[in-house]
Amino acid sequence: MIVIIGGSFAGVQAALELRRLNKQQKIVIYEKETYLGYVPNGLNEFLKGKINSLEEAILYDVAELKSKQIDVHLGSECTFVDPAAKELTIVKAGQAELVSYDQLIVAAGSIQRPLALEQGTNLVYQTKTLADAQQTLDKLQGDVSSVAVLGGGIIGIELASALRQFKPELQITILEKFDRLLELAVDEVISSAITEKLQESNIQLHTGIDFESIHEDAQSACIRTNEGSFKTDMIIKAPNLEPNHQILEDAITLDIDGSSIVNRNFQAEDSIYVLGDLLRLTLMPIKEKFYMPLINNSVRTALVAADHISGKKELTFESTKTNVFAAFGMTVVRSGAQKRNERFTSYHINKCNGVYSLPGKDSPQVYVVIFVREDNHQILGIQAASEADISPFANLFSLVIRGKLTVEELATHDFFFHAAYPSKETHCLNEIALDYLYNEEKR
Ligand SMILES: Cc1cc2nc3c(=O)[nH]c(=O)nc-3n(C[C@H](O)[C@H](O)[C@H](O)COP(=O)(O)OP(=O)(O)OC[C@H]3O[C@@H](n4cnc5c(N)ncnc54)[C@H](O)[C@@H]3O)c2cc1C
Repeated sequence: MIVIIGGSFAGVQAALELRRLNKQQKIVIYEKETYLGYVPNGLNEFLKGKINSLEEAILYDVAELKSKQIDVHLGSECTFVDPAAKELTIVKAGQAELVSYDQLIVAAGSIQRPLALEQGTNLVYQTKTLADAQQTLDKLQGDVSSVAVLGGGIIGIELASALRQFKPELQITILEKFDRLLELAVDEVISSAITEKLQESNIQLHTGIDFESIHEDAQSACIRTNEGSFKTDMIIKAPNLEPNHQILEDAITLDIDGSSIVNRNFQAEDSIYVLGDLLRLTLMPIKEKFYMPLINNSVRTALVAADHISGKKELTFESTKTNVFAAFGMTVVRSGAQKRNERFTSYHINKCNGVYSLPGKDSPQVYVVIFVREDNHQILGIQAASEADISPFANLFSLVIRGKLTVEELATHDFFFHAAYPSKETHCLNEIALDYLYNEEKR
């Protein structure tokens, strides 16, 4: 019997793939929540009016899995893993039960860890799970005129942008510990473009913030920081995610950041595989491991583990860290490494950036940044931002990175041209590659 702990993107994908590869295998999922796969930006989608209830952001249908003979137990939390006995403790409605496994897949994901300074407070909210998002929404729908968002990374700025759409009159403040927005996520060319839009949307941004304490009365909170105090009706945390490693602590070896130590098949030991947000993954273009919590990554780790468990052993996965986010009317697309990753390489990473035009008369412009390995001209990363929906560029960028194209190859790569479709004689990727080669000012 294969037991999967965690029925979200990694866990469900593992179950589906195992079923595809073996029609007879007994597969069981234990999930502590009462649903499978809530997409955590559901709250933003609701605030923007794109969905009518948070439940619409649930991705998987239990009945569909059951129809594939995948046994799903909701409201069932694994509290202990005993690798020696190959046994788990599962608690459902307060009742504990011992469950044996032949192979165990742990897909317990990530958490937004409580901050020490939020202890004993009632006005600090978060958004990753459906329950968290519902509580946050209930509060927002009440008498709230100001919100402080803690964190100016992707999660924080997408949330601030959605809040602006939800309540145009809301006073919104982002408090960020780094010296600029999106410091870890994107190059400063892109973050400056977003910061400009954010200021036009009347959002207060404070960077370089160290949080000291939070004090509350019934109606409002006061956040004390190195840059003074901020009074607000509500605080929403938007921190980086962390591995939810609690049940693995006594079962397998964990890395210093709490991620699991696994081999290239995501196997921690003979009968235990660990997937998704519990792992650090290799960033493909620079071969260094990073914590990159993304749905696309979680799903691929599941494909590899299922392939290995079923005995095929043909698949491997390294991430290009490809993703898209949108805030304040800009879509941002990124794939691969960036300049800040240079500290992990033995070679220099050069950067080139420019502003280019998209196909079509009066189309918005696109900011593009490429990161190039200095010694052999391999393209290691690409980022872009535009007021146009450039989300389809993400998959194109990731193929450039995975294909290890050089700037010379990209400069003359043939992109189609047809007058009836959005196309240009030269693509912005041709143009930035040519600029890298011939226009020193843009480097
Ligand atoms: C606000 C926000 C927006 C995001 N937007 C995007 C995006 O646009 N694109 C993207 O790719 N990624 C996005 N992410 C990241 C993405 O949500 C994660 O990478 C993804 O959820 C990881 O999937 P997973 O299956 O590995 O783990 P999780 O989704 O964390 O799922 C783990 C599952 O295990 C269950 N579980 C945990 N412990 C136990 C236990 N002991 N017993 C039983 N069940 C347990 C949990 O209830 C959960 O269902 C976003 C994250 C946040 C917070």
